[in-house]
Formats: sequence, structure tokens, C-alpha cells
Amino acid sequence: MSAPLPSETNGISVPRKVNLRRPDVMEAVSAQVVAHYRSELVERIRANGGVISQGELTVKLAKEFGFCYGVERAIDLAYAARRVFPEPTRIFLLGEIIHNPEVNDQIRNLGIVSIPPKPTDDELSALDLTADDVVIIPAFGTEVATRRRLEAIGCQTVDTTCGDVMSVWKRVRQYSKDGVTSIIHGKAKHEETKATTSQATANGTGHYLVVFNLAETDYVCDYVVNGGDRQEFLQRFKGAHSPGFDPDLHLRAVGVANQTTMLRGETEEVQRRFRSAMERRFGAERLQEHFRVFDTICGATQDRQDALEKMLREPMDLLIVVGGYNSSNTSHLAEMGEKVLPTYFIKNAAKMESAGRIEHWDQHIAEEVQTANWFPTSGRVTVGVTAGASCPNNLIEDTIKRLFELRDIQLPLSKTS
Ligand code: SF4
Repeated sequence: MSAPLPSETNGISVPRKVNLRRPDVMEAVSAQVVAHYRSELVERIRANGGVISQGELTVKLAKEFGFCYGVERAIDLAYAARRVFPEPTRIFLLGEIIHNPEVNDQIRNLGIVSIPPKPTDDELSALDLTADDVVIIPAFGTEVATRRRLEAIGCQTVDTTCGDVMSVWKRVRQYSKDGVTSIIHGKAKHEETKATTSQATANGTGHYLVVFNLAETDYVCDYVVNGGDRQEFLQRFKGAHSPGFDPDLHLRAVGVANQTTMLRGETEEVQRRFRSAMERRFGAERLQEHFRVFDTICGATQDRQDALEKMLREPMDLLIVVGGYNSSNTSHLAEMGEKVLPTYFIKNAAKMESAGRIEHWDQHIAEEVQTANWFPTSGRVTVGVTAGASCPNNLIEDTIKRLFELRDIQLPLSKTS
């Protein structure tokens, strides 16, 4: 082991978080990360006001897109872990470091082995994890039970959980402490939401309910105001509520929080509808006892949504959204785009097979679909490009280059327009 840790304590099993952010390590990591993910073309376009035009094709970039601070930090820490713990030390990663297949491939290329996000006891036994092994916790965190298992084994953890995710945990832990049920606007199966719900129940008495959209919100709000069929409620929210959750008991005091990457407008609407339902049920004068709210959309998600909203007001013919298909924040960008113009959500430039055929993600049916003749081959065309918080600039560069290639246009080497 190249870096003995102060917490190595004669075989006693203790949580050991590793501090990797030494200046020498981070300097080397920064050079490596830049080499893997930087794009000189994207930087040039940014410096040119986010626009590149050549021939009859114009590509516009949203003002904010791509890697967020939380993702950058997580990737840096994964690379740093490999430097501080060179092979043969085993490094495992719970699930994916972020939701981007290319980035996860790069992490695998470092010899970091991905294991299930919530490994079972059998899976952990099969790995034969020991205190000499290193386990990386991804940017969206992990469930309390998994963290406790790792701590019990005593392996070293590199925790890349984003600070914005931890802020949500703090809120829901407080709700639980105060006997308030956490209503979490999010995707019940998303790793971040699972980690958050586990925080809500960590004290052994807390409860949570995850609502995904406004239809589910309305159903719950109607139950709050008018009551309903308890069994039907529990069936409808199967897998999205805490063990022992009873809608007749646990919707009397609720606190709203959200997955950090939801659509801002929808989250605000969820908050408004719950506030109104609790007010109708318990009266405005008692609202404080029954309703709490904290906005936990992260700044990076907000900035990307705001930038796209602004770009969508400008004339464009189509929009390309680049990112991993399981990325929540990217899917919301695609959702915003498709309300306004033809929008194609792709994971990389190779999906733009030709001007006559693109393969893209349809999040409504959770499948890749093909669209024919998606890209005009003549006349003036303006394409907007944006990307989720887990998409590196080199993939955005590939996308831009491919668009020009489809028009047989050579991009200038050092000028953007
Ligand atoms: S999207 Fe937001 S919460 Fe997620 S890693 Fe980035 S900054 Fe953190």
C-alpha cells in the first residue's frame, strides 16, 4: 500500500475516508483529466460567444452545458485514487462514477472495477473485500446500508458524493428527526434518490414518499385532502415509500425535497401543490406545523436549464442534447427542448449516422429510436447543442464536428466564424 493511513488501527474495523487532495496528486490528475476530456474547439466556440458558422450551417452552444463542479470533483478523485493507490491495490467503484458511458469506460481503463451500486452480502463476499481495498462512492452518493457495510469491512472509501446531494440529505434527516415525512420529487430508482431516501429512514423512525411527476403529486394531494383507498395508494407507490408507510398516518406533516437534477419548474409546482393541499386539510394558520419545503435543485442543474431556456427563445431548426441516457439532468434538458423544436438526445456523435438517419433516446418509452431525414442537407440551418452535467467537452466537440461533416464542410483550424 503506497499511502498508509492514520486510521489503520490494529485490525479494528473503522470507516476510513482517504484524503487524496494533495497538491502533487491533484496537479498530475488535472493534466490527465484535461488530456482525456478537454476540447480546444469547444473553448474556441465559447470564446466566440457560443456560435460557430461555416457555409450555411450554424451551431449554437448553450451558455452553460457539460461537466458540473460535482462531476469534475468526482472524476478528479477517481483519478487521484488510482495515483495514490497504484496497482496491485484493488479499487472498486459502486455502480458508475457519473452517468456517462464514455467517462465510465475511462475509469474502467484505470483498472477501477465497477461493482453493483448496492452490493448484496453475497456479492461482497464474492469480492472478498478487505481493509486493503479501496471503494469509491460516486457523485450521487450511496445508501446508508451500503456505507455501513463498507465501514464494517473496514475498507478505505473515497467519497465523491457531491456537496449539493449532501445538502438534501441534511434536509431529509432533519425532517425525520422532527417527525415530518419527506416527500421527494425524483425518480425512485435513481441512485441519488435511493441514497436520499435511505437518509430519511436512517434514524429508524423516519418516513418518505417519492413522487415522480405532477400526476403522482395530484394523487397524493387528493388523498391528503379527501382521503382514499389506502391499499390502492400503497400499490401505486410500491417501491417509492418507506417500509411501514401508512398514508393515513404519515401524510399529516410533510416536508418537500427533491432530487438535485429535476426540472426546476416542475419541482416548484410540486411544492405549490403540496402547500395548497396541506393548507386545505389543516388550515392556513396551522400550515407551519404540517408543511415544510426546501429547494434542493443544485446550482449546476439550474444554470444548464436556464441557459437552454434562453437559447430556446432564439431561432433554431433543431436541438441536439448530448449525454448518458440514464442521466437525469440530461433527460430534463431534452424534455425542455422537445416542447419547442425537433430534439435529438444522443449519447455520442456516432448516433448521427447520416443526414438521413439518427439513432436517439426516447425517454418516454425508454428506448433508442431512429428518425429518418432529421438533418436538412441544403439551405441555411441552425442547430442548438447542449449537454448534461455528466458530458465531457470532447464528446461535444465530436458532435459539432459530425454536424459539419454531414454538410461536407471543413471546419477552420483556428477561427470560429
Ligand atoms: S448535477 Fe448538481 S448535484 Fe449532481 S454532481 Fe453536479 S453539481 Fe452535484
